[in-house]
Amino acid sequence: MGVVSAKGLCSVGRVNARDAADPLAPFRARFVQAPDVTAYLDGNSLGRPLASTGPRLADFVTSQWGYRLIRGWSEGWLEQGQAIGDELGRVALGAAPGQTTIGDSTTVLLYKLVRAAIELRPGRTELVIDRDNFPTDRYVLEGIAAERGLTVRWIEPGDVTVNRIPLGPDTAVVVLSHVAYRSGFLADVAGITAAVHEAGALAVWDLCHSAGVIPTLLDEWGVDLAVGCTYKYLNGGPGSPAFAYVRASLIGEFRQPIQGWLGSANPFEMGQGYEPAVGIQRVLSGTPPIVGMLAMQDMIALIDEAGLEAVRAKSIALTSYAIELADELLPDATLASPRDPLRRGAHLTLDHPRFEAIVPLLWERGVIPDFRRPTGIRLGLSPLSTSFEEVEIGVRTIAELLRN
Ligand SMILES: *Cc1c(COP(=O)(O)O)cnc(C)c1O
Repeated sequence: MGVVSAKGLCSVGRVNARDAADPLAPFRARFVQAPDVTAYLDGNSLGRPLASTGPRLADFVTSQWGYRLIRGWSEGWLEQGQAIGDELGRVALGAAPGQTTIGDSTTVLLYKLVRAAIELRPGRTELVIDRDNFPTDRYVLEGIAAERGLTVRWIEPGDVTVNRIPLGPDTAVVVLSHVAYRSGFLADVAGITAAVHEAGALAVWDLCHSAGVIPTLLDEWGVDLAVGCTYKYLNGGPGSPAFAYVRASLIGEFRQPIQGWLGSANPFEMGQGYEPAVGIQRVLSGTPPIVGMLAMQDMIALIDEAGLEAVRAKSIALTSYAIELADELLPDATLASPRDPLRRGAHLTLDHPRFEAIVPLLWERGVIPDFRRPTGIRLGLSPLSTSFEEVEIGVRTIAELLRN
C-alpha cells in the first residue's frame, strides 16, 4: 500500500505523510496481506499472521513433529509454554521469568485463576466484576459464585475507576480488564490493585486487549494474577492458547481446580494422588497445545524488535488520527471511547444507529471493522500491521456509506 495505492479514496498527501513519517511503517510489509482487504481494522479481534509464520508451521510439521515424533516432548515441547511465557513476560508484560505460561483458552485460565484466588482468601464471600466486562469474564464469575455459594458484587456500567469498586472485609477477588473490550478505557492497574490489597483481597486482571500493545509492568504494579489472549495483538492465530501470570510469591500456595497430570509434580511417574508441580507449571492441566503456540512466537519477536514503547506511541497516533477523522467526517456518530490517549487502549468504538446496517457493506468493500451491539463499530488498530492510510480509508468509507 503506502504512497502509490491511495487511488483517490483519500486526500493523499496528508495520509501518506503520516505513513512516511512513521518509523514503524516498514513492519507492515512483514504481515500476510489479504488481496481483497483495503483496511483491516479488527487487529484487536484477530491479528494478521506474519509471513514468517507459514514457513514456521511447515517446518514444525516436518522437522519437529515429523522427524522427532514423541521424542519432541522431552526435547522442549513440555517446557514450551513456560519458555514462551518468559519471553512474553520480558517483552510485553514486565514479568520476571517463572511466572507466566501458555495454557488453555482465556476463559478456562480465568476460571482456574479465580478459583485458585478464592482458595487463597478463605472465609471471604464476595467476588467483584464490572457489568461492562467481556461476557466470558462475567459468565465465568457468575458460574463460580453459584458453584461456591459466593455473591457477585457488580460495578455498574461505566469506566472502572478505583472509587467505583465495592471493596470491603468480605471481598475475596476482583476481576477486571486492563482495557475495556468495548470502550477501550484503560484502567489504572497499579492503583486499583493497591486498593484491592488494602481491602485484603486479590485482583485478577484480564489483559486480552492490552497484551502486546500497552506497556504493562505486572511485577512492578504488584499484580497477583492475570490472563490474556494471544490471538489479538499477539497474532497467535484463531484460537491460539492464552497466557496466565501468577505472582512468584503466590505460586507456592496456588491450587487450581482442574488437577491434571501435566500440572502435577511428576507426571511420568503415573503415581497415585495429585501433587502440584513446583512452579508456574502447576497452572497446566492436560497436554499443552504446542501447535497453537507456534505463530505467537513470531509476533513476540517482532514486538521485541520494534520495542513496545514505540508500538504504544504509534497506537496512540493511530487512535488519535481515527478520532480526528471521525470528528470531521462522522459528526453524527458518538465516540464511546476516552479522548484522553493516556486513558485509552488501542481500539475505539463509535456508535451510530445505522452502523449495524452498513457493516456488511463495509466488509464487501474490503473495509473490516467489527460490530458491537447495539450500535457500535469498533476499530482495532494493531500498530505493527496497520497504516494511517487504512484508518483514513476506513473512516471515509464509513462516512460515504452513511451518506447513501
Ligand atoms: C477476547 C476476550 C476474551 C476471549 O476469551 P476466549 O476464552 O479466548 O474466547 C476474554 N476476555 C476478554 C476481555 C477478551 O477481550
